[in-house]
Amino acid sequence: MEIKRRKTRQINVGGVTVGGGAPVRVQSMTNTETADADATIKQVRKLVKAGCELVRIGVTDKASVRALKKIIAVSSVPIIADVHFNPKLAIDSFNAGAAGVRINPGNISEENITQIAREAGKRGVAIRVGVNAGSLQKSLLKKYGHPTPEALAESALGAVRLIATAGCENIKVSVKASSAGATIDSYRLLSQQTDLPLHIGVTEAGPLLSGTVKSSVGLGILLAEGIGDTMRVSLTTDPVQEVMVAKEILSSLGLLAKIEIISCPTCARTETDLIELVEDVEEALAKDFWPPIKVAIMGCVVNGPGEAREADIGVACGKGRGVLFRFGKPVKNVEEDDYFEELMKELVTIKKNWRERI
Ligand code: SF4
Repeated sequence: MEIKRRKTRQINVGGVTVGGGAPVRVQSMTNTETADADATIKQVRKLVKAGCELVRIGVTDKASVRALKKIIAVSSVPIIADVHFNPKLAIDSFNAGAAGVRINPGNISEENITQIAREAGKRGVAIRVGVNAGSLQKSLLKKYGHPTPEALAESALGAVRLIATAGCENIKVSVKASSAGATIDSYRLLSQQTDLPLHIGVTEAGPLLSGTVKSSVGLGILLAEGIGDTMRVSLTTDPVQEVMVAKEILSSLGLLAKIEIISCPTCARTETDLIELVEDVEEALAKDFWPPIKVAIMGCVVNGPGEAREADIGVACGKGRGVLFRFGKPVKNVEEDDYFEELMKELVTIKKNWRERI
């Protein structure tokens, strides 16, 4: 399937291009106490290592602004301040070096949005208008009865007009709801009404498993329709997992080239502990950057050789031993106890050659 991405305006967030044909950017948000600069820096580094390209940090008070400055000084990716209620914190965040702010029109007045936008415009930094179904303006709730897609879009575009009028053009927009269906409807509608880049996400998606499924369905459908320029998967867990899930969603749609494990679900024919082997390989791969290699780890000789042959590297496990495939060809038999070491050895060699090719 070839995805035709929607044409959006390109903006710049601290040196990272967003929209206008740029890759879909992966974002996440720290959940440490921002004022604890050391802990937050540590988490930002972990997120970046996992593949996060833009990190959002909640700025709630003066202490977090002070910490924000320290965090930005050492961060290798742009930092976006998440500000609610208080316009001064947004402006202080710009002064601390934030590449942008996220504001929610549901909890900040029009005058304050204009004030923030003027300052952002002067500095060339970005603003995300982040509308959330759970915190919509009362006037819109009264008008529409519920946080409908029309209400979310009206909220977002009202704020966009204020920001643009105040002289800030680096704007992206999000209209998140906590169900996949409402999120899809809202972004479909919004994408017909603006060519600004869209940050997509299902808000408060939930715990790791159900939140991953909900986000994959919601964001996957939008991305397949070409909607989405940056994305965040919101999960109630370590935010590193959010980044990993986001990358898997992008990779599954061919929007991100990354290492891919193809493994069978196991069945009565499986004669090795395939689940443990796949988990070990996945854990080892998560610790480092890998080029987009396809690894097949298969449980038997039914589909094993076929999948292993199609992958860059693969093993078709049999009883007590299996066959190792390299670029489509069987290269040797491997004893069951050596599957992991042999696969990792091959992967390291491919990675090394990949670097040399680059
Ligand atoms: Fe079962 Fe073999 Fe298919 Fe794995 S590849 S699910 S072991 S039949």
